[in-house]
Amino acid sequence: MNAFKAEPPALKHEMRAALDRVLESGSYVLGDEVKAFERKWAAACDTTHAVGVANGLDAIEIILRALNIGPGDEVITTSMTAFATVLAIYRAGAIPVVADIDPATGLMSLASAQRCLSATTKAIVLVHLYGQLRDLPAWQRFCKRHGVMLVEDCAQAHGAQLDGVAAGSFGVAAAHSFYPTKNLGALGDGGAITTNDAVLASQAAQLRNYGQSERYVHPVLGLNSRLDEMQAALLSVRLRWLDSHTARRRAIAMSYLDGIRNPHCELLSRPVAPAAHVHHLFVLKCARRQELVDHLDGMQVQSLMHYPIPVHLQAPCRDARRDPQGLGASELYARQCLSIPCHPQLTDAEITRVTQAVNAFN
Ligand SMILES: *Cc1c(COP(=O)(O)O)cnc(C)c1O
Repeated sequence: MNAFKAEPPALKHEMRAALDRVLESGSYVLGDEVKAFERKWAAACDTTHAVGVANGLDAIEIILRALNIGPGDEVITTSMTAFATVLAIYRAGAIPVVADIDPATGLMSLASAQRCLSATTKAIVLVHLYGQLRDLPAWQRFCKRHGVMLVEDCAQAHGAQLDGVAAGSFGVAAAHSFYPTKNLGALGDGGAITTNDAVLASQAAQLRNYGQSERYVHPVLGLNSRLDEMQAALLSVRLRWLDSHTARRRAIAMSYLDGIRNPHCELLSRPVAPAAHVHHLFVLKCARRQELVDHLDGMQVQSLMHYPIPVHLQAPCRDARRDPQGLGASELYARQCLSIPCHPQLTDAEITRVTQAVNAFN
C-alpha cells in the first residue's frame, strides 16, 4: 500500500541534505526550519498563517481549544473517519455528535449533520475523506446560517482545490497531519494548523508550547505539541515534490476508474473536478469484501479498509450522541469499503496488475 524505499534518489538526496543542515545548525525544535515551513505551508494553503504542531490529532484539539470550545459544547463530525478526528474532540473536553455519510463518496452527509444540530452545537469538523473536496460552499452556508464554526480536517487532502480555493482555507481553521503515509508526509510525526485569523494563530502557537505567551509566562494550560526542525526541514523538501506526487496519484485513480469493471465491485463517485481530489486513498465497495481481500491476497495485491469500524461502534463512543435517524449508511459502508494501492511509487505494470486482479474476482 506504500513504497517509501522506492522513492526517487533525487528526493532522498534532497532529504539527506536537509537533515545535514539541521544537524549542523544545532537547533532542533521550533527554530528557523519550522518558521520557513510554516510560511511555505500557509502559502500552499492560501492562508495568512500556519502553525506547526506535533501531529494531526493535536492540530484538531488545539484548534477547538483556541476557539474556546470545550465542556458542554457539541461538535458534529462524521462516523467515517480516522479515530483521531473524534478523539481530538473528546480531548478538547467537548461532546462529539456523530453524523452519517453519503454512501457514494463516504463523506459526511449535510442532511444528517442538520439532524445533529442542537442549541449547544459550536463547530463542525469536516473531513475531506480520501482527499475529496465536495460541496464546500454548501457547508460554508450551512455553518454560517446556524452560527457554527467550520473546522476542516485536511489530513488526507493536501493540495486539493475546489474552484480554485485550497483545502485548508475554507473554514475558520484547518488541521493537517504529516504522518508518513499522508500525501505530504514527514519521516515521523508532524502536523499543522492553517487559518486566516491572526488571533487564532497566536493562540494555537501558545497552546502547542505549554500555553506559554513568552518565556516563563503561561496565561493558559497548553500542550507539548511542538514540531521539530528535522521534520520541518524534510517537509519543506517533500512539499516541493507534492504536486508531482499528486499528479501521479490522479493518473493512477483515473486508470482505476476507467479500467475497473466488475459487477461485484462498486466504485465511488468520480471527483467533481480533477483538482478537487488528491486521491490519498482509492476506495471501492464490495458486498463480499472478505472474499475479495482473500482473492487479492492470493494475487499478491495488498488492500486495507478505511474504515471497517465506524466511529460510533468504537468502545469509547458507544453512547456518543448521533443522528437521531441512526448511522445506517456508515455501518453498511464500513462492511463494504476496500482501499487498493494508490501511491506515487506504483508503476504502470502494478496498476495493470491491480486492475486485472480486481476484474478477475467473481
Ligand atoms: C491521519 C489522520 C488524522 C490524525 O493525524 P495524526 O498525525 O496521525 O495524529 C486525523 N484525521 C484524519 C482524517 C486522518 O487521516
